[in-house]
Amino acid sequence: MAATRPTVHGLHHVTSIAAAPQENLDFYVGVMGLRLVKRSVNQDAPGTYHLFYADEAGTPGTDLTFFPWPDMAPVREGFGQAREVQFGVAPGSAGWWRERLESRGFEAGTPAPRFGESTLPLRDPHGHRIALVETEDERPWIPWEGAPVPAERQLRGMHAVCMVVRELAPTRRVLEDVLGFEEVGEEDGWRRFGVEGGGSGRWLEIREEPDARLGRWGTGGVHHVAWQVEDDREQMALRERLVDAGLQVTPPIDRFWFRSVYFKEPGGVLFELATMGPGFERDETRDALGESLILPPWLEPRRAAIESALPPLEVPASVGASEPPAARAP
Ligand code: ZN
Repeated sequence: MAATRPTVHGLHHVTSIAAAPQENLDFYVGVMGLRLVKRSVNQDAPGTYHLFYADEAGTPGTDLTFFPWPDMAPVREGFGQAREVQFGVAPGSAGWWRERLESRGFEAGTPAPRFGESTLPLRDPHGHRIALVETEDERPWIPWEGAPVPAERQLRGMHAVCMVVRELAPTRRVLEDVLGFEEVGEEDGWRRFGVEGGGSGRWLEIREEPDARLGRWGTGGVHHVAWQVEDDREQMALRERLVDAGLQVTPPIDRFWFRSVYFKEPGGVLFELATMGPGFERDETRDALGESLILPPWLEPRRAAIESALPPLEVPASVGASEPPAARAP
């Protein structure tokens, strides 16, 4: 009997590029209410922070991470790129969020339906496209008690990622034949793919732009998109299938909190397959997540030099839910 075909199980994390780290931290913790669950360094360039924002526990699928590279040019949008990261929020929250953002000087668009879900597009301080999508979908997510946003309004994890390719067919073949996605609909030129039947955290939206120029990494842009795999075994099975499909895939790399392989899908977007564990509580208790600079063991001997090269960071104090903007109908 044929073994069940391995697939990915939804978004694991997205990693993007920011400019000044303090501005990035102030926005994602102080305004968006995510928790800094890990303060580390880019393992391939330890002179740069790697900041991880997620729910209370760093649950896979809730985690948007950043490399702050203040000297890098802004992203050049084009094909071969993920363009927008969407987070799920409770139904009726889009208007509340728009008011909160505007009251703090950030521009947000007008909530409008996308695939039947009210969606609020916005930009972070460095121009990164984010959207908040009202969804009733159940999903693994733990509200953060220390957040400056009341639990019922908090971001519930990543809902979908949008990406642009010049030619859809080769990307679609890998999504459908290897990773386990199925196309479920199209709207305004965006095709929605779902894995395991779709749902919040299991969507990928792709637009084919044959005339687009090649995108280039930069501040305010996505660096890579990571998909969940259960464990090393599943990762190796999928890796083998990707290699058979003609893709170049890295060997497994130990990221300490998970293990990863990387490859460019045929449209040029950097994908990662990351294991569910061991997770962020491997080296910090849940209460203390994000409080100190954590280095993987192989960088510990260089701690003094690494620490002295990094700019100081101050996590915004939780303002509690003391002065939330008044709720209004979306
Ligand atoms: Zn990653």
